[in-house]
Amino acid sequence: GITLALALADQTWHRQRELDAARHAAQTDALSGALNRRALETRLAAAFEDARRHGQPLSLLFIDLDHFKNINDRYGHATGDRCLRAVIDPIQAELRATDVVGRWGGEEFLVLLPGASAVDARRVAERIRERIAHLAIDSDAGPVNLTTSVGVSCHAAAMRSPDDLVAAADRALYGAKRAGRNRVVMEEELRSTTPYTSEVA
Ligand code: GH3
Ligand code: MG
Ligand code: MG
Repeated sequence: GITLALALADQTWHRQRELDAARHAAQTDALSGALNRRALETRLAAAFEDARRHGQPLSLLFIDLDHFKNINDRYGHATGDRCLRAVIDPIQAELRATDVVGRWGGEEFLVLLPGASAVDARRVAERIRERIAHLAIDSDAGPVNLTTSVGVSCHAAAMRSPDDLVAAADRALYGAKRAGRNRVVMEEELRSTTPYTSEVA
């Protein structure tokens, strides 16, 4: 009886580990080890709903590697892949337990910062940008340096869906690219620098 009970307990334990592993794999981007897009969308929806319901701040960082096509072209795709893996640790190093990082696609990563104000989010974004800029990634042709552009958006009452929050961060990212890359741009600053003439009229 005891032997049978132990065998069953052992089987249950193993089955649970297998389920945990499968669940983890379903949520993970195989290349970078960060959350995948689908898992990110689920977390984003939940965080957005929390922010909407409880009026808590929620900030989002849209991180895009600069001139990544050139890195692939110069150093090869395998080195490019190594770069995509290498940026996760410096991002994680600045995050708290409730923050989330995932790969949105290609060379783009999203970070969710529940509870973070615009000031907090800018500070985190700036530190991540600096950490990544200090990486030296191994390649056959010597160490590779990376820079990133970061767009930051914050939840606002007027936002209807998580897509609005992502779109706002994407606009800020575009602003960072246009301003010369390797920088952080806040979406709210884009709005405050809209043409002065419309207000004069
Ligand atoms: P920008 O500074 O404007 O962001 O320029 P960029 O070259 O980074 O942007 P672009 O969107 O033109 O190119 C993105 C590149 O990312 C092109 C594509 O080959 C590369 N890329 C996307 N996914 C992967 C991947 O999984 N592995 C590797 N090695 N490269 C990838
Ligand atoms: Mg991109
Ligand atoms: Mg890019």
